Amino acid sequence: MSLQCYSAGLSAVKRGGRSPTAETRPDGRVEVSVVLPMLNEEEVVLRTYRRLKAVVEQLDVSYELLFVDDGSSDSTADTILEISLNDESVTGVFLSGHFGKEAALRAGLKYAAGRAIVTMDGDLQDPPERIPEMIRAWRAGADVVRMRRQSSTPDRHLDFMLYGPRAATVLSLVVNRQRYMKDVIAWAGLRETVITYERRPRAAGRSKWSVAQLLGFSRDGTKTLSNVCARILMLMGFLGFFAGLAYACYILIALTIRNDPASLDPLASAAPLLLGGGVLYFLGWLGEQMEQIAPPMRHPNFSIRVLARNGRMSAP
Ligand code: UDP
Ligand code: MG
Repeated sequence: MSLQCYSAGLSAVKRGGRSPTAETRPDGRVEVSVVLPMLNEEEVVLRTYRRLKAVVEQLDVSYELLFVDDGSSDSTADTILEISLNDESVTGVFLSGHFGKEAALRAGLKYAAGRAIVTMDGDLQDPPERIPEMIRAWRAGADVVRMRRQSSTPDRHLDFMLYGPRAATVLSLVVNRQRYMKDVIAWAGLRETVITYERRPRAAGRSKWSVAQLLGFSRDGTKTLSNVCARILMLMGFLGFFAGLAYACYILIALTIRNDPASLDPLASAAPLLLGGGVLYFLGWLGEQMEQIAPPMRHPNFSIRVLARNGRMSAP
């Protein structure tokens, strides 16, 4: 059964020989969900599943593996579907198109049933073997466990994380996780534990960041028309302000050299440049801030085509 068949209306799915259900808590709740976004990862998806499964099977907690297909054009979605139909501990979330990694993660977070949620890349760059340690840190009282890359100088990566129940609730309200999560952790008084890890090379396949995405032109990118306008305003403001500043300095230096401090009138002509530049820059900055929060208010971050959970396919 492929996703294509399902879309064609063949929704009656017969399950194959499934592996035993993941051990659940007495109240039926899943303790930990592991969410992985996947875009054209046919070379690695099965390998990721097997390695992850070997780790979570050893855990003394109930778990769920949640693979999100971000509109792959290769066989990734079909492989995820097959895994989800054969293993009840696996949930497949299939987006109706390519929405970008951040949106795929959001979709995964929406459907994750676990009290704690681990997010990680699907290409085995984030080693699944570190998950037990993350869970221990959560049990020791952390609300957020952030895995920091050993070799990276900027401390800004939020790929490999564990969100405890409090953090998961807060996270569901955050409009732009990449941009605001760190502020929110501090604001909400969440306890964060940072663990350093070694990021491995990709197990197979290629990085999914296209030139367009890197330039911010993807669906979850930031270079919309209004954002470009905001940037232009900021640039004009910046240039105006510094032109005014340079002019004012020039006049002051000229006056000092001529030793004529009485005549400061020309300074007045620098003032509009300084003020106008400052205001333009601020307007552009405001526009950019608004653009950060506007898209999720205009439309949802993602759209889901179908779900596969508990060994069955269903509408979202
Ligand atoms: N990914 C995705 N949608 C995208 C780009 C990436 O779902 O638009 C997934 C990708 O399949 C992988 C993870 O996000 O599991 C990280 O992507 P990638 O390895 O390309 O990023 P890099 O490690 O190069 O930063
Ligand atoms: Mg990668």
